[in-house]
Amino acid sequence: KLGNETVKAELGRATWKYFHTVMARFPEKPTEDQKEALRSYIYLFARLYPCGECAEHFMQHLSKYPPQVSSRNAASGWACFVHNEVNAMLGKPEFDCANLGESYDCGCGGDEEGSEG
Ligand code: FAD
Repeated sequence: KLGNETVKAELGRATWKYFHTVMARFPEKPTEDQKEALRSYIYLFARLYPCGECAEHFMQHLSKYPPQVSSRNAASGWACFVHNEVNAMLGKPEFDCANLGESYDCGCGGDEEGSEG
């Protein structure tokens, strides 16, 4: 039982790191196609998340707080907010979303346009 919880937490940490990094690299001025790609990605991410119970909770969060995809700031702020909703549900402290910048630098160098560039 403890083993399962540890593995679930590890998956969560790795996933959140990746999820917030995707948002931090989303274009500041996305095209309609890029916005639609991020929206689809978020819904599929939720649906396919390997922990079924987590996926179910997260899809409920999504229907309450639909993904914000209009810009990098909107997307990363939204992701921070929904992660805080999960934190609250699990009795974890709230993360200060003003600290996002330092936390999710992917080390991708001068590739300013992100993965789409
Ligand atoms: P995590 O919540 O994993 O966070 C990792 C690090 O991210 C933190 O140390 C902090 O530096 C940073 N961080 C924290 N909050 C934020 C934020 N708001 N924005 C940006 N960065 C932040 N576990 C369950 O038991 N039940 C569930 O239903 C459940 N649902 C989940 C749904 C999803 C989509 C994901 C990705 C994970 C889910 N988890 C769930 C796992 C859970 O959220 C944690 O990942 C796990 O409990 C480990 O927690 P942690 O305290 O190490 O920090």
